[in-house]
Amino acid sequence: MGEHELVLDSLSIDEAMALVAGKGKREEGRGGARDEGRGTAEQAASARTSAASGAGDWRAALRAAGAEPGAGAGAATVLPESPLAASHVPLSSKSVPTPSGELFAGSLEQVETLEEIASLIASCKKCPLYKTATNPVPGEGHPRAKLMCVGEAPGATEDETGRPFVGAAGQLLTKILAAIDLPREQVYICNVLKHRPPGNRNPLPDEVTACSPYLIRQIELIKPKVILALGTFAAQTLLNTKTAIGKLRGSVHEYHGVPLVVTYHPAALLRNPGWKRPTWEDVQLARRILDRSIADA
Ligand code: URA
Repeated sequence: MGEHELVLDSLSIDEAMALVAGKGKREEGRGGARDEGRGTAEQAASARTSAASGAGDWRAALRAAGAEPGAGAGAATVLPESPLAASHVPLSSKSVPTPSGELFAGSLEQVETLEEIASLIASCKKCPLYKTATNPVPGEGHPRAKLMCVGEAPGATEDETGRPFVGAAGQLLTKILAAIDLPREQVYICNVLKHRPPGNRNPLPDEVTACSPYLIRQIELIKPKVILALGTFAAQTLLNTKTAIGKLRGSVHEYHGVPLVVTYHPAALLRNPGWKRPTWEDVQLARRILDRSIADA
């Protein structure tokens, strides 16, 4: 299957693009998705300008960017001017606030590189998972990635290789990223947990607490423009909510000052082809936020 031949239900990427964006058939080749994203980003920028000069209607700006502000979850962080103007974001009760020093217990804020984080993870004994895991899976990708994908925890293949999202779900993720013009190497991919839970069981709250400082520091060092939360566990953990993924997706949230978009886990897509179309909408939204940040830079 070619990188642009990801099939959404019975739709090709091209057909899905036309349906989702309502803009007719997409151009052939890699530029198509990006160009379309830029067009939407321009609409968003113009809506933002009018919002800033007029009644300050950030909802119009977000809608122009393709997001439903506050739709469904009520946990969505809504943006007054720009999905990227995190410093102006009014935090809702369920938003995860900007980190404070104590989260790192005085240690990780001294860590200045992703390699150092990986080496800390390799010797981490803050929870028992290191005892059963074969390899740590700290994450991989571009150290200044504009998009960060965050999944749940390493599975069997990831545990064997020490690399995130390299099994069947990972291969689908790579195709999804390529479809929004993001080669995997340009993205940073990691998980909430850095060691595999035995038998792929759900991560335990204590494990998440122990592992979170690594993820937070990775985000601080990489400074992504958007985070894509993959699946229920990652989304609910990062947003500190029990809201169902169906309600979390479709809005722009925030995690430690970074816009966050929720989508279905690629492994779930393999089981539920009907979720491919909403996933495509979600990654398009992430792409638009990215394009807008590039345009605003
Ligand atoms: N599922 C995840 O959540 N993460 C991986 O790295 C692989 C599968």
